[in-house]
Amino acid sequence: MWDNPCVLAIKQGKLGGILGGFHEVASARQKTPPDSGLRNRYAFTYPNSSLKGLPHMKAIDATQLYFDRAADRMDLSGNMRRLLLTPKREVTVEIAVELDNGEIGIFQGFRVQHDNARGPFKGGLRYHPEVDLDEVRSLAALMTWKTAVVNVPYGGAKGGIGINPRNHSSRELERITRKFVDGIHDTIGPDRDIPAPDMGTNAEVMAWITNQYEKYHGFSPACVTGKPVELFGLPGREEATGRGVGIFTVKLMQRLGRKLNQTRVAIQGFGNVGTHTSKFLADAEMKIVAVSDVSGGYYNPDGLKMAEMLHYIVEHKGSLAGYNNAQRITNAELLELECDLLIPAALGGVITSENVDRIKAPIIVEAANGPIWPDADRVLEDRGVLILPDILANAGGVTASYFEWVQNRQHYQWGLNRVRQELDRVLSESFERVWELGKEKKVSLRTAAYIIGIGRVGRATVLGGIA
Ligand code: NAD
Repeated sequence: MWDNPCVLAIKQGKLGGILGGFHEVASARQKTPPDSGLRNRYAFTYPNSSLKGLPHMKAIDATQLYFDRAADRMDLSGNMRRLLLTPKREVTVEIAVELDNGEIGIFQGFRVQHDNARGPFKGGLRYHPEVDLDEVRSLAALMTWKTAVVNVPYGGAKGGIGINPRNHSSRELERITRKFVDGIHDTIGPDRDIPAPDMGTNAEVMAWITNQYEKYHGFSPACVTGKPVELFGLPGREEATGRGVGIFTVKLMQRLGRKLNQTRVAIQGFGNVGTHTSKFLADAEMKIVAVSDVSGGYYNPDGLKMAEMLHYIVEHKGSLAGYNNAQRITNAELLELECDLLIPAALGGVITSENVDRIKAPIIVEAANGPIWPDADRVLEDRGVLILPDILANAGGVTASYFEWVQNRQHYQWGLNRVRQELDRVLSESFERVWELGKEKKVSLRTAAYIIGIGRVGRATVLGGIA
């Protein structure tokens, strides 16, 4: 019988600990040096994004650089890196629909399935004008490490359509969504790949996806998470990402011995994640001094009237435009404010080498995916800025999605209290593990989180066998 190095390693007791002996197993398989050609292989363009102006850097490069920093610490072989980084499948579909004015609208939809060694692919669907294949690839990889860091039994995927949902009526969005499902229904499903909401999508979009998917495959509420509670959704799913950001932030402040009521917070983005984060932190008596959305920033050094602002956006279709009970600032100024804690909760790539020298917050919690570019991250780290990385900070959403999926499969529904309790437990354990590993290895929280994520995915990959 073939001497499986993994089985050997288990017999020799090498698969314990945080890295789980993963690098022993991996290097037993392959002693290839890190593959310098890998980055070129993934050198896709990123033409439309907020990252333009940085031609040397693409979204997928950023995710890969963070991966590489951890992989270097783990002494991971080149072939193992390639295996873990290469997406399993990428699907691009044409979405042609009739618009309300009778014209034909043609859009591109993407689904990238990055890794499924630990369970079905899992990840959100983004509707935003800057969505392209490169961004989706990068976000899909982030999902792989994220689900592993919080140890939910999923892999990583992401999808999206390059549209501005604000430019479409609800009927158009429904038609676009249903057409998208027509194109990808064979590649998703409860045991294959489970989409969820992300920027520009919500519970209503998830309901359309379920309904369209079920036309092909029959009753399957577990094919998507983040559904309306009335349609097998989870009480507390909508708040879960922001609540998770709040839970992590409070834990971090406690670890640092900071007083919550003396902490001034600036939050970029006032959508699903930004609003729930703001609410949680305001309830914890932190002082929210600035928030922003696509209409710009709103600032009050003595603290914004959070209840009033949350009420305002409910009354104004989710937008802060026209709110006048605060000083107006730009989104760029918000990032550069004198404050104790900065929470980017909107787009990726908002802190770059161009503005990093003006960032004054000593602590940054990455509620958004990929808000800090690696070159800026390096500068911040050298300056001693503490960063709670996205793959941990915003993992509350996918954790709650896991609870929803479990319940859909059991045809059972938990109450809100139980959801919150379980969320708190999973996130607290994950935080402690990342914090302790960071301390033990003397690495940033980002590298610690990646080491945990890569270790778990790597172990599953090797244990599953690579025939
Ligand atoms: P959302 O669409 O609900 O809200 C996005 C917010 O960002 C809105 O307030 C919008 O006005 C604002 N915004 C858009 N463009 C902006 C710009 N150029 N400058 C400043 N603000 C801008 O999206 P969301 O679900 O809150 O997601 C926000 C971030 O969190 C994304 O990076 C997403 O990937 C990440 N995330 C979301 C979830 C989730 O469960 N929704 C889970 C994990 C991570």
